[in-house]
Amino acid sequence: MTQKTPHLEKHKQQQLVTEARRNQELREQSYRGQALKLYPWLCGRCAREFTHKNLAELTVHHKNHNHDDNPSDGSNWELLCLYCHDNEHARYEETRHTSKQTLGKASASAATHNPFASLKNLMNPNAD
Ligand SMILES: [Zn+2]
Ligand SMILES: [Zn+2]
Repeated sequence: MTQKTPHLEKHKQQQLVTEARRNQELREQSYRGQALKLYPWLCGRCAREFTHKNLAELTVHHKNHNHDDNPSDGSNWELLCLYCHDNEHARYEETRHTSKQTLGKASASAATHNPFASLKNLMNPNAD
């Protein structure tokens, strides 16, 4: 008897989602804290300076655009203000679309900043 129990499965998935989301939030807080300790509080693009008052507008950018790549020496982080950060990602999206056309490979569902990208792997460890 190897009957599945859909209700439990769903419950388990929901737990995974909650857990992954919490982990992600914790991880974000911790790498942001680390990056703010490592680097002076200014935007790497427009050199705008930040204080405790407006620190919320200073964000941590991942140079290789992989939010899971957080080396403790900070080599993948760059402090950017909200505006420059937006710009940086807009530019990245552009190059990504161009290279996708060149490759001719359809991967429409793969969003760059999908917070559940890693979760998908978590739930389907055998995928790919
Ligand atoms: Zn800036
Ligand atoms: Zn970024």
